[in-house]
Amino acid sequence: MKTSQNGMVHLVGAGPGDPELITLKGLRLLESADCVVYDALADAALLSRCKPGCEKIYVGKRAGNHALPQEQINELLISCAGKYASTVRLKGGDPYIFGRGSEEALALLAAGVPFHVVPGITSAIAGPASIGIPLTHRGVCSQFTVFTGHEMPGKEESSLDIPAIAATPGTKVILMGMSRLRGTLQALVEAGMDAATPAAAVQWATTPRQKWVEATLGSLADAVEGVLGSPAVVVIGDVVSLRSQLGAAKPLPLAGKRIVVTRTREQASGLASRLSALGADVLELPTIKIVPPTDRKDFAAAVVDSPHYDWLVFSSPNGVKKFFEAFFAVYEDIRELGGARIAAVGPGTAAELKKYGLMVDVMPAKAVAEELIAEFDRKGDEFGGVANVTMLWVHSEKGRDVIYKELMKRQAIVDECIAYNTVPETEDPTGARARLVAEGADLITFTSSSTVQNFMALNLPLPQGCKVASIGPVTTATLKEHGLTPDAESPVHNIEDLVQTIVKHFGN
Ligand code: SAH
Repeated sequence: MKTSQNGMVHLVGAGPGDPELITLKGLRLLESADCVVYDALADAALLSRCKPGCEKIYVGKRAGNHALPQEQINELLISCAGKYASTVRLKGGDPYIFGRGSEEALALLAAGVPFHVVPGITSAIAGPASIGIPLTHRGVCSQFTVFTGHEMPGKEESSLDIPAIAATPGTKVILMGMSRLRGTLQALVEAGMDAATPAAAVQWATTPRQKWVEATLGSLADAVEGVLGSPAVVVIGDVVSLRSQLGAAKPLPLAGKRIVVTRTREQASGLASRLSALGADVLELPTIKIVPPTDRKDFAAAVVDSPHYDWLVFSSPNGVKKFFEAFFAVYEDIRELGGARIAAVGPGTAAELKKYGLMVDVMPAKAVAEELIAEFDRKGDEFGGVANVTMLWVHSEKGRDVIYKELMKRQAIVDECIAYNTVPETEDPTGARARLVAEGADLITFTSSSTVQNFMALNLPLPQGCKVASIGPVTTATLKEHGLTPDAESPVHNIEDLVQTIVKHFGN
């Protein structure tokens, strides 16, 4: 929404990395924002929560390029406030901890732009916690100091008083400390700290890319060399010793695996969140998106007429969703649908129907058109067959026509209801495609033939050694047409089963 007056700018803390560690308030503002200004520490999965049409502006570092200078970010925020009712400035961790959030707030204040701060969980606390290090512990330490290891470049004299920090009891936490780590740690020892003090560093804390190293104040610089880089939190103090008891005992089954999800942005979250819950580093790379069907009037007319059919046959969860969005735009009450019998192509589609309180009469165990037809034949006696009954087949513009042809062969009177179309996803706001090329992946998932076709159309090189997982035989056939043989195929065509197949594939 555009306004001529000043909109509101929300300085929102995104949390330390795990997208689930944003606050409820932050997420609500993000989901309703008209514009989001973000940088590298904001997790890509958070951006996928933005509403359609939300303007997303990246101001962080690009490969080889510097980030937008702070002055320009301040100006950008002021100009966004002139254009949009609600702008979210998403910042890693807490906006007021070393993120220059307070400078942005002062610039907004000077420009008369109303702003509001939503605190976030800072990596200073979450980083150590994520590997089992509490910053305070009764009897061990009852205070902590957080400081930057990277003073403003060009500053003649550091405003950091290292001797004072060294003399202060309690845990020490260093942010932005990796590039000058050796010098900083050495200065602490020279200022009197015991080189044997336990110390640890954690990079990409709370994300699947998390890595950590435990050493001592004297040996940490060597220990991280070539192992850990930025962004990392360094923690020094006796509390570090608690890690051996409080750190996670057993890694999750997909820990360390980077897995690509190629579904639509709308659908990806289910698969992506299951995989990340199991420890995978998920790259969401949607190749297709759902758009309205070419002939919207036909679709609307079919939905209006839907209460007059003996059967409703649904070919996909998306079909169910789009059908009922349209249905409830016309009718208020689900009972207007009448007493039609319902068929679903598989368990995923049936689960979507259940959200509307509808149970299915016919559904094969495997979500394949041929299996649905076989199921109609097998169960035919229960409802007197399909000859001369009226059926509305709800499906996508680009599907196969097996269901239509086979039901017509059995003398059913089938009308089509084309509820949506799938088209290639052209946006890459999260940089997932670039990450795939630069960093590779362990496995790529395909959840329909169209995800295969559209992935191929992107012409991205499949990373070396990258395995392929298919949701079922139809998707596998399409993969083979494109010269790819899946390394794993889900026996039952649904997301949960695909996830289990992947876990098994990696031998867990
Ligand atoms: N406002 C942020 C800090 C911004 S300064 C916060 O409250 O967390 C950037 C520094 O934060 C990095 O150099 C690193 O020291 C730390 N950092 C941020 N996210 C991190 C993460 N996921 N893992 C480890 N360190 C992180």
